[in-house]
Amino acid sequence: MLTRDDERRGAVKATGPAQEPVDVLGIGFGPANLSLAIALQEDLPQADAFFLEAARNPVWQGGLLLDGSNMQNHPNRDLVTLRNPRSHYSFVNYLFEQGRLIQHLNLPLEFPLRKEYAQYIDWATRQFRSQVAGGARATDIAVAEVDGTPEYVVTCADGSQHRARSLVVGTGRTPFVPAPFDSLDTPRVCHLTQYLHTVRALEEAPRSIAVVGGSQSAVEIVLDLAHRFPQAKIVNYVRKFGLRLKDTSPFSEEGFFPAFTDYYYRADRASKNELDAYMRPTNYSSTDADVLHHLYALMYEQRLDGDQRIFVRGNSEVRTAEADDTGVRLEVEEVHTKDVSSEHVDLVILATGFRDLGPGPRQEAYPAVLAGVIDRFQFDDDGYLVVEPDYQLRPRSDGTPPLFLNGLCESSHGIGDAGSFSLLSLRAATILDGLRKQGIA
Ligand SMILES: Cc1cc2nc3c(=O)[nH]c(=O)nc-3n(C[C@H](O)[C@H](O)[C@H](O)COP(=O)(O)OP(=O)(O)OC[C@H]3O[C@@H](n4cnc5c(N)ncnc54)[C@H](O)[C@@H]3O)c2cc1C
Repeated sequence: MLTRDDERRGAVKATGPAQEPVDVLGIGFGPANLSLAIALQEDLPQADAFFLEAARNPVWQGGLLLDGSNMQNHPNRDLVTLRNPRSHYSFVNYLFEQGRLIQHLNLPLEFPLRKEYAQYIDWATRQFRSQVAGGARATDIAVAEVDGTPEYVVTCADGSQHRARSLVVGTGRTPFVPAPFDSLDTPRVCHLTQYLHTVRALEEAPRSIAVVGGSQSAVEIVLDLAHRFPQAKIVNYVRKFGLRLKDTSPFSEEGFFPAFTDYYYRADRASKNELDAYMRPTNYSSTDADVLHHLYALMYEQRLDGDQRIFVRGNSEVRTAEADDTGVRLEVEEVHTKDVSSEHVDLVILATGFRDLGPGPRQEAYPAVLAGVIDRFQFDDDGYLVVEPDYQLRPRSDGTPPLFLNGLCESSHGIGDAGSFSLLSLRAATILDGLRKQGIA
């Protein structure tokens, strides 16, 4: 990543109000905007693009790169292949360049290890060094008129400012921290995105741990904790009856096809809600068979040995949580019988997912970074931001330069936009077309 005093072309161009505005300024340089950067390089090289990335050295999902954990999608649904199967930046070419292709193809794994995919993302990221400012967290966006032309001015936490003719916001989704944990400020409670950083920083092994949520990540975390802290009691609290198998039916998986994105986009809100309910188990509150079966068998073996330390408590909702010097006291309600039990734990891990855009209690109305310009954009009658098919926000009036969302549009574009890799490269192509139509470069 570049520092501000880096003299390379891209950085100099974008780091001061005195410089010319860039054609495209991306906020965030995770897989979504990385995929866009590649598409721009391959298909619109005349566009002058620059990216701001909050992390100095971003690591893809670094807080949950667990040993042995695997990808949740086909490796060829990578940064480029669906858009351009001949691209230099494919996962297969990455393996080829590392001299690992034949060994990789011989792996007895259905999906690659997540840590290998993280290395692939890192390999591609490094090739865009000159177009990225690392350690640049965008905190404010404004529109300014320069010589009668409106442009964006983005301010970062370090005070640097960046001018642009268009913006693409690819900041990833906001972690969802539910009540009662949202009012706690203690290192003993962490969201899954901070899992590894938290357990690695512990001074002593925890004796009791609560994992809240019934997602793939919840099960992976329980298994990792059981391995990492073999003496600890681990309780997984799940609001529904139990842990569910993911819906991996190839028919359901067609929700991750571009045709479904178009179909979903055209549906009204009631139909969208119905489609969401159907698609939910393909991605949320459900778990792949391998880890689910592993967990079930492990719990059975612990009971056989008369030494059960892992528990899955279904129909359970944490109602109150209070932190003290030694841990967190939880009051947990059985949602059907209304019985309340109390537990004191050393650590709580929230495997509670992410916020989507929308007016609901688990949603957020807009990405926080847009606060300074949000009044310029339209919301529909249901309270959702109006996102065009090409991911551009619809302005209330003329005079607002183009602003696109990249990777944040599940509520308008459906499950294929649930932050995953599935349609990443095709979305980049759609945004690129949108930029072209707006006359950007
Ligand atoms: C544990 C975990 C495992 C996953 N596994 C898979 C998987 O196997 N397969 C799959 O398809 N998907 C998976 N996902 C989904 C994941 O969201 C996508 O893979 C992918 O990371 C989405 O890319 P993104 O660029 O939209 O968001 P992110 O990866 O979240 O990247 C956003 C970037 O923006 C930066 N940023 C945020 N705010 C600012 C700001 N204000 N200014 C500047 N920079 C900012 C962040 O630092 C970050 O680098 C997983 C998610 C998690 C949490």
